[in-house]
Amino acid sequence: MRDADPKPIRLVDYRPPDWLVDTVDLDIGLHPTATVIRARLGMRPNPAGREGAPIVLDGDELVLKSLALDGETLAGNAYSVTPSSLTLLAPPQRALTLEIETLLDPSANTKLMGLYRSSGTYCTQCEAEGFRRITYFPDRPDVLAVYTTRIEAEREEAPVLLGNGNKVEEGELPGTTRHFAVWHDPWPKPCYLFALVGGRLDRVGDRFVTATGRDVELGIYVEPGKAARAGYAMDALKRSMRWDEEAFGCEYDLDVFNIVAVADFNMGAMENKGLNIFNDKYVLASPETATDNDYASIEGIIAHEYFHNWTGNRITCRDWFQLCLKEGLTVFRDQEFSADQRSRPVKRIIDVRLLKAYQFTEDAGPLAHPVRPATYREINNFYTATVYEKGAEVVRMLKTLLGSEGFRNGMDLYFERHDGQAATIEDFLACFADATGTDLAQFALWYAQSGTPQLAITGEWNPAERSYRLDVEQSVPPTPGQPDKQPMVIPLALGLVGPSGEDLPLTLADGTSPAGGVLTVDAPRHSFVFRDVAERPVPSLNRGFAAPVRLASNLSSDDLVFLARHDRDPFNRFEAVQTLALGYLIEATQAVRSGRNLPEPAALIAAMGASLADPALDPAFVGQVLTVPSESDIAREIGRDVDPDAVYAARATLRRAVGTALAEPLAGAFERFAAPGPYSPDAASAGRRTLRNTCLSLLAEAGAGEGVARALGLYRAADNMTDRLQSLMTLCHHAPGQRAEVLADFYERFRDDPLVLDKWFGIQSQIPEPGTLDRVRELTGHPAFSLRNPNRVRALIGSFATGNPTQFNRADGAGYDFLADTVLGLDGSNPQLAARLLGALKSWRVLEEGRRGKAEAALRRIAGTAGLSPDVSDIVTRSLA
Ligand code: ZN
Repeated sequence: MRDADPKPIRLVDYRPPDWLVDTVDLDIGLHPTATVIRARLGMRPNPAGREGAPIVLDGDELVLKSLALDGETLAGNAYSVTPSSLTLLAPPQRALTLEIETLLDPSANTKLMGLYRSSGTYCTQCEAEGFRRITYFPDRPDVLAVYTTRIEAEREEAPVLLGNGNKVEEGELPGTTRHFAVWHDPWPKPCYLFALVGGRLDRVGDRFVTATGRDVELGIYVEPGKAARAGYAMDALKRSMRWDEEAFGCEYDLDVFNIVAVADFNMGAMENKGLNIFNDKYVLASPETATDNDYASIEGIIAHEYFHNWTGNRITCRDWFQLCLKEGLTVFRDQEFSADQRSRPVKRIIDVRLLKAYQFTEDAGPLAHPVRPATYREINNFYTATVYEKGAEVVRMLKTLLGSEGFRNGMDLYFERHDGQAATIEDFLACFADATGTDLAQFALWYAQSGTPQLAITGEWNPAERSYRLDVEQSVPPTPGQPDKQPMVIPLALGLVGPSGEDLPLTLADGTSPAGGVLTVDAPRHSFVFRDVAERPVPSLNRGFAAPVRLASNLSSDDLVFLARHDRDPFNRFEAVQTLALGYLIEATQAVRSGRNLPEPAALIAAMGASLADPALDPAFVGQVLTVPSESDIAREIGRDVDPDAVYAARATLRRAVGTALAEPLAGAFERFAAPGPYSPDAASAGRRTLRNTCLSLLAEAGAGEGVARALGLYRAADNMTDRLQSLMTLCHHAPGQRAEVLADFYERFRDDPLVLDKWFGIQSQIPEPGTLDRVRELTGHPAFSLRNPNRVRALIGSFATGNPTQFNRADGAGYDFLADTVLGLDGSNPQLAARLLGALKSWRVLEEGRRGKAEAALRRIAGTAGLSPDVSDIVTRSLA
């Protein structure tokens, strides 16, 4: 057990390593409970380190069997071992070879970090600090070495043996039942990118020829019998490889690229060099078992991990504070890839929805932290929406500010200058500054200041002067450890939309035009005056959501209706409707709480109706317009004294009003966009299904347009999981009489399919009614439920805590108690997963007094429990601070 409350690690304390490792030779004898690891490390003192320093290696839950220096077994007094380290007290100050033998029990590894088994397959997860659970090593990303890995196993148990790089040798061990393979990775890498796999797996193979003619062998390995479900992932991989060459000039650099899908995985996937390991949820897909969203996630995550080969692997991070250097940049890259493969505007809408749902919420609560944190206690807890999604937004802003060409030049310089290095955010920004001659010192605040900046904008037309003035004020709210903030550089992308719906020319008082329609806001207050504005325009602000900020403006609801109809920026057409809806929902929530009559959503319904009636619009876009903000979005915007029941009631009332008023066009769209042929996961077909299912859910909620009957028909006739799951959800929420029957039907169809069973658990946990908590408790006793499979835990308990606001936030606190019990029950076996689940309580302070007290009590109960993991201890401490 590690110390539950270790001293925080601070960015300012960074020191280069005292010892470097040039080569790592591993000899691994796989065994279910007694795997032997022999590591030979070629080390030398780091000229940039402290002279005469001891060799300190990290370790975690290791059994040390032997230790030799340059071939000589070391005497017991030459080194010391603690639960977390191995230290050579006075090593010779020259190049040397350390040989370390450790013993592991992969079957007992329930943390899923280091070497473990998933359904019998041996696999590894080393990011962030898992390699130290395999052998003693300087487990930090700025130690880069060339790895050669020999893996030996029973042929029966593990006919497939995979490692990083290229396979250089394989064979049988004569006279035994064992065989081996040797893999060599020529590219120096940090140990967090190490991986191996051994198991009985099926393979889907393909080839890819790179831009310069390198022939790459591609393999996707899956559990036996599931190869037919890996086709889409393979297609996405090849498209990713081509796109990265075209968009960023990044070419693949090994002869082999393998992906392995495993059922037990803490995260989404991992970019190990040449051997990506995936949560099988993000590989396996067939029309009958995967939804359109699943297909889109697979495409995005396959691309994300592949793109890491350059942004993360060839150029890695100096230390874990720089995590966003690889993650924010790589998320930006995968978002751009998906935008190019699908509909760019719809992709942006979906990404911004997620950004607001997760990142804005995180930034507004006790777990808020900068994109590059300055301190951490447990790095596992910093794989967050802020590091990933806000990190991607910061890169997008760089592109907006520098232009496409400047951005590309900066990226080219980054690859050229830092290839093979462990870099920092300063290194990254310097490339853009140098390539474009731009001072990015103030821009760098995006990495250092947490909290979502706010823009308050007032626009005023002056008919006499034929001018338009925009007064812009920025502020950044206080966040933990950062009471006072400095002004940021915010790209304000905008247009002035004239009465006929056309953009008016943007000419500032001095006669210049903002490049690309982007104003730079870098002071607390600005006044921008546009001249030659003959008619009253409506400003379209923060187009494309170019800056990840909250916006308050003096636009009237008529202005928003106008933008919803005419803005040439599709994002802001969508956003105008969302802003109208949020305004209504906040008012309606207050009305519910104080027993007043609810306001009339007439303008909003008219705007939605207009979208629905516009044949020029992409159905996927209309589907987004018709999707009103979620309960958590509403709660976050209200920001204090939130009563989740009132939020729910307000939202349901709005949806019923929409469903009733637009019953005819909704039913019409449902009919009109029926699938023309067999299922295809492409974006256009998926968009039609999104629209149909959104219509259906509004109709069913309103009890109009035969919504329930249509949902039942769709469920029964569905030839794909999207329609089947969406109709099932609609029935579960709005047709209690049909629920038991369809749930039983679904279970019988898919009882042997774990990824689909996850959906079955998830749907039940999200039903917004008082019996749900009991049902969830009962389902934890279902034979198919297990705390050992992270996907299953997230499906039942995670989606209850994050996807069912009224029932998780029950007024009696039972939802919080249930979560606390689960977190405590899980902490011993899988602390990472436990800590993530606990994150569901991060917004507890915005709740009304009664629930706030209950949530706090649950958190305090966890905090008061002895023997917490560092992961859970860190989250609970910060949540309560
Ligand atoms: Zn990543």
